[in-house]
Amino acid sequence: MSDAKPALLCLNTGSSSVKFSFYAVQNDQPQLVFGGQIEGLLGRPNFKAGDPQGVVLAQRQWDVPMRRSDAVEIILAFIRQQALGYHLQAVGHRVVLGGVEYPQAVVVDDHVLQVLDRYSPIVPSHQPAEVEAMRLLRTQYPSLLQVACFDSAFHRTKPELADLYALPLSYRDMGIRRWGFHGLSYDYISGQLPALDPRLAKGHTVVMHLGSGASLCGLINGKSAYTSMGFSPLDGLMMGTRTGSLDPMIPLYLIGQQQMSVEAVEKLIIKESGLLGVSGFSNDMRDLASSDEPSAKLAIDLFVYMLARETGAAMGAIQGLDGIVFTAGIGEHSPMVRERTCAALAWAGVEMDLASNKAHSDSPRCISTPHSRVSVWVIPTNEEMVIARDTWMLARTI
Ligand code: ADP
Repeated sequence: MSDAKPALLCLNTGSSSVKFSFYAVQNDQPQLVFGGQIEGLLGRPNFKAGDPQGVVLAQRQWDVPMRRSDAVEIILAFIRQQALGYHLQAVGHRVVLGGVEYPQAVVVDDHVLQVLDRYSPIVPSHQPAEVEAMRLLRTQYPSLLQVACFDSAFHRTKPELADLYALPLSYRDMGIRRWGFHGLSYDYISGQLPALDPRLAKGHTVVMHLGSGASLCGLINGKSAYTSMGFSPLDGLMMGTRTGSLDPMIPLYLIGQQQMSVEAVEKLIIKESGLLGVSGFSNDMRDLASSDEPSAKLAIDLFVYMLARETGAAMGAIQGLDGIVFTAGIGEHSPMVRERTCAALAWAGVEMDLASNKAHSDSPRCISTPHSRVSVWVIPTNEEMVIARDTWMLARTI
């Protein structure tokens, strides 16, 4: 009998990258052993892997584009060579949309893949790639257990009103709902709150996930009750290249009156707008923050304005505000955006401790003053850990 240690692989497959994390399972808890990614699949692919201490384990670059299937094979080959002494029990995948069918993680089979395929047109930038990766592994390694973990699942606890558009009800039944996304991140943050701040864990808390995609989630008692993203990951906050909330007449007008094609409008609102569109030169908050261009300042002003406005919407929806949590790239690393957002929400009882906000740390920390009515936290997110946890919960029973 083999005494190899159980292990899990988490895959996050995007349109131009495949990210991976390899976990050992000890005492029923996944522990990160190493991780990495292949980025730039459509141009000059770049493979990099490292351990949790930041030691680089492998690095390689190619000059020609790479198929996603080849990227997955390269990652599996690296794991076979790197993870001696481990037995891969399952692969957990990040999947953006699981619809009403999957309010929690599910073991992948042909039927699951068929259902997920149907949701692909709603998230063309991610879902088709994720489904392709699962299908590929199912063909190549039929006995390998695969689990799909959904960004939409955490929001299935939302009340009906937070799920509904004011369309005839037959459209809801067709799947036109406020699904919500970034749920793996919100699930992780919600799981951290009881130990960090029990008042926020039980109260009305707005979590702001501010990465290249951005959304916020209104939690009541740790469960999603409202989220700024809707039918697709386009709605709500301004993002790196996405518009956030947009009057639906605008695409209709551009297509109907300005002779833009559907494809051109799709590209405009998904890839050419947001911080990039308004600044005219970058989707990266670091570039904008260090620029003297008036358009960069305008892009940051609009980002903060839309964030404060959406927080007001969340407060109305969840009927209160006990705390705010900042997370993801911008949320964790931009004291400037945090300071400006809290200043815009001072009317709601938010009082930031400026020194704590500026202090550098990678650990969860409270950055509000002791007498602020609303507590403010920075909590680094860990979506992969949620994928590993949920994958193990299903794998250990099989
Ligand atoms: P994703 O996983 O959605 O690609 P991340 O959560 O890694 O995104 O966030 C990426 C974004 O975070 C970048 O586009 C950048 O704007 C922002 N970011 C990262 N580091 C910093 C920083 N030090 N200051 C300001 N913004 C940052």
